[in-house]
Amino acid sequence: EPGTPVIHVEKLSKIYGDGFQALKEVDLTIRRGEIFALLGPNGAGKTTLISAICGLVNASSGRVLVDGHDNVAQYRQARERIGLVPQELTNEAFTTVWDTVSFSRGLFGKPKDPAHIENVLRALTLWDKRDNRLLELSGGMKRRVLIAKALSHQPQVLFLDEPTAGVDVELRREMWEVVRGLRDQGVTIILTTHYIEEAEEMADRIGVIRRGELVLVEEKNALMQQLGRKELTLHLA
Ligand code: ATP
Repeated sequence: EPGTPVIHVEKLSKIYGDGFQALKEVDLTIRRGEIFALLGPNGAGKTTLISAICGLVNASSGRVLVDGHDNVAQYRQARERIGLVPQELTNEAFTTVWDTVSFSRGLFGKPKDPAHIENVLRALTLWDKRDNRLLELSGGMKRRVLIAKALSHQPQVLFLDEPTAGVDVELRREMWEVVRGLRDQGVTIILTTHYIEEAEEMADRIGVIRRGELVLVEEKNALMQQLGRKELTLHLA
């Protein structure tokens, strides 16, 4: 049912071991079928927030529900509903595309499903590369493999942490196409970025995070009308 909540974040705070507060009482609801862009300057807390939602970082207080499952008390149920595409490129080299994606599914304890792996590889135009080893792939193709891995266990929600950081314009546009394609196939998308154009191009809704605080959450069109690029840029300084 598109439009129903799939991620529910309540008063989520994170204080790191050194006493630094990276998240301050963040409240956020992500709806099924949307593309949500989390926009913020370097160090604002984007990675911390998605890591905390995915259960990779322990929150100091607050809670996260994934499709109704508490991400601490019901970690397994919550985590299997989530696909996470990390910021760093993979350093696997000698495994093939097929084995990499298929193995990733196995890590979630899901039974082998070659038909699903095929669908994922086709959706990411990796099918022709399935027998290639990762070291033989271009940067763009490697990024696609990371997305394919994250989709291998059929998650409902896909998190992409700065999917186009440090890539050229052409590859950026390519990644935008890929992500839109996934949304059209029913995957809910949450991505972090510090590029306004990326949020503007992709998102249905935009959240702005600054110094650990979610200062703004709005429909994209309303936000761009209210603030415009210039003022939004000020939020990112
Ligand atoms: P970027 O755009 O640079 O990736 P970000 O918005 O993703 O930044 P985070 O990586 O979440 O920001 O970091 C938020 C803040 O928390 C930063 O000031 C960072 O230095 C701090 N931080 C991150 N991890 C730790 C840690 N393990 N211990 C202490 N502080 C941390």
